[in-house]
Amino acid sequence: MNAKIEQFFARENPPTPCLVVDLDQVAGNYAQMKTMATWADIFYAVKANPAPQLIGCLAAAGSSFDAASPAEIEACLAAGVDPTRISFGNTVKKAKDIMWAAARGIELFAVDSEGEVDKLAANAPGARVFCRIAVANDGARWPLSRKFGCGPDEAIPLLERAKHAGLRPAGLSFHVGSQQTEAQRWCEGVNWCAALFDRARRAGIELDLVNIGGGFPVHYGDEQIPGMASMLETIGRAMLEMFGDAQPRVLMEPGRAIVGSAGVIRSEVVLVADRTYGLAQRWVYLDVGRYGGLAETEGEAIRYRLEVAGRKGPMKPSVVAGPTCDSHDVLYENILYDLPADIAPGDIVTLSDTGAYTTTYASVGFNGFAPLEEYYI
Ligand SMILES: *Cc1c(COP(=O)(O)O)cnc(C)c1O
Repeated sequence: MNAKIEQFFARENPPTPCLVVDLDQVAGNYAQMKTMATWADIFYAVKANPAPQLIGCLAAAGSSFDAASPAEIEACLAAGVDPTRISFGNTVKKAKDIMWAAARGIELFAVDSEGEVDKLAANAPGARVFCRIAVANDGARWPLSRKFGCGPDEAIPLLERAKHAGLRPAGLSFHVGSQQTEAQRWCEGVNWCAALFDRARRAGIELDLVNIGGGFPVHYGDEQIPGMASMLETIGRAMLEMFGDAQPRVLMEPGRAIVGSAGVIRSEVVLVADRTYGLAQRWVYLDVGRYGGLAETEGEAIRYRLEVAGRKGPMKPSVVAGPTCDSHDVLYENILYDLPADIAPGDIVTLSDTGAYTTTYASVGFNGFAPLEEYYI
């Protein structure tokens, strides 16, 4: 936890559970990525955290935005973002939402199927489209494969269809899955894009946009991950090698890497119980859980760092669970967490690197627990 967030907690003592995000750190993360990848334009993936304060902060820093719905587009427009700096990157859109977005001045749309090409042609004539191809997601802690992306062989026929229907084929995109720790996955995507640019040219289509998606990892502390600088350098080198002198415009859509490390969730221990039924294990129940915003603990995919304030001394392996009456509301039970042996109800537990994919995943009030409170400082 950085000093600014620590001071906020000390000064305000906000009720738990809550998320605090340090906007200076968000701006710092953005600036750092921008410096490390001068060859790309950053389109922040709004779904990671759509808070207006955050969008305002990134807009001021010069970011563009990748939105998936009218509400996300509206949030960017409300922050004063020019519509030409917003892409409608969801490949599954309602016709009326496409029409609405086009009317608001959105120019860039994603497709990965014939049905979506036809919908765009009918509702946003003349729009620029990029085709999302499916690439390997191995190495990602939160994969996004299967649901999105066409096979590479389908991409050029789709873009031809788009052209014939009056759309403007702009380029290609791919997404290597979230919390991806292997730069090689992006390089494979870049290789595909270069090969498909050639095929497009032979089909009479000039592409000029490569969208390398998001997926850049946050250091949660439970595993070694490569540094951001070296990953981006590797990807930049792949662009140079594969496209040579004919460098296209490159977009990237980081979400997690921009905001994850800037947030801390403050939670309170509700109960500590030594269970003897089945496995003899100690259970620690927090006031935040799967339905309070920690959706990415599903399958223990994301293992947040937990710290208990004011306790030192011996540790004890513990199951960590949330407060609701749902048996899926268990955060960690396959790999136990070492928590202080004397942890007790009322203790403050902080969860680090929780700025992304938390607040909007919180249920509206399952079991009467309110959505996660959020502070942007
Ligand atoms: C979710 C998503 C992102 C952001 O992914 P991160 O892992 O948060 O960087 C970017 N692009 C698309 C299309 C997405 O669906």
